Amino acid sequence: INILAFESSCDETSVAVVQDGKTILSNIIATQIKSHQRFGGVVPEVASRHHVEQIIHCTQLALQEAHIKYEQLAAVAVTYGPGLVGSLLVGLMAAKAVSWAHDLPLIGVNHLAGHIYAANLVKSLQYPALALVVSGGHTELVRVSAPGQFHILGDTRDDAVGEAYDKVGRLLGVKYPAGKTLDQWAHEGQDTYDFPRAMLQEDNLDFSFSGIKSAVINTLHHAQQIGAPINKKDVATSFQNDVLDILVTKTKRALAQYPCAQLIVAGGVAANSGLRERLTAELTPQVELIFPPLRLCGDNAAMIGAYAAVAYQQRNFSDLTLNADPSLDFAYQTED
Ligand code: ATP
Ligand code: FE
Ligand code: MG
Repeated sequence: INILAFESSCDETSVAVVQDGKTILSNIIATQIKSHQRFGGVVPEVASRHHVEQIIHCTQLALQEAHIKYEQLAAVAVTYGPGLVGSLLVGLMAAKAVSWAHDLPLIGVNHLAGHIYAANLVKSLQYPALALVVSGGHTELVRVSAPGQFHILGDTRDDAVGEAYDKVGRLLGVKYPAGKTLDQWAHEGQDTYDFPRAMLQEDNLDFSFSGIKSAVINTLHHAQQIGAPINKKDVATSFQNDVLDILVTKTKRALAQYPCAQLIVAGGVAANSGLRERLTAELTPQVELIFPPLRLCGDNAAMIGAYAAVAYQQRNFSDLTLNADPSLDFAYQTED
């Protein structure tokens, strides 16, 4: 079955055609990064306007590139949260219009379920699986007990890890989004600064990244006051090492508590080469690691189409009253 999928939760307008949740026939991604860079982050109103301008063209391109006509589609899928409400609404309106005009079932998809099921485009998921979701807005350890069954095991108490990268990057004068550059610098500098690794010793699966961000701010301010030089690459190396210590330690703890055959690393920060190296070195062959290719780590509609195939099989359809839910999230694990 072919599913037409829409993703517009943040600053990427994306439309894809995915076959059987496994094969990408097309995955058009129009990024708005250039429009937001001068503001140092995403401006919601600007984002919504760009989505409006881009979405029809992206839809046409997606169908054209896939060589698929509306009659060959089985369903239309769309991200309905979490994300920016104005941005989400544009994708929702487009998906509903296609659904109504072509009499196709509508499938509302949780953006984070999409990030996790990007892994299914690479390898068939085995259940239960553990997902480390690391993105611009989220840092969660999620147990996937069965297709479409998600349980949060641990979450961030404050900043998301991608947000911490972007804020530290901004302090160091790196353009938004800063993750990729800091990752590069981290491989070129030395670990000379000591930043706190919050909640590492605490016996839970939660994260905190605001302390490490404040420590970087204080270090830079202090150096400025006393006129000491700052080695930006060393700051990046020290910051990344501390962040990776936290992510890897908590992931290992989750695997010890909830044994799984597969570990899925999902979200924009899954592109981090240091994270890939460390998890591979420390967790194979204990678990099978799935890192989606870089293009599928960031926001894209193919991942939404990948998850939509699960919802389609379960006949989990939405109607035209489907609304945007900016703070949509999974439920916490309760049973043990
Ligand atoms: P969410 O998915 O939580 O709604 P989002 O969609 O804005 O948030 P993504 O697009 O999934 O987030 O990820 C973007 C984030 O990934 C940015 O914060 C960016 O800095 C970060 N990022 C991208 N590449 C890297 C990298 N190599 N190392 C670290 N961070 C990275
Ligand atoms: Fe995302
Ligand atoms: Mg993004």
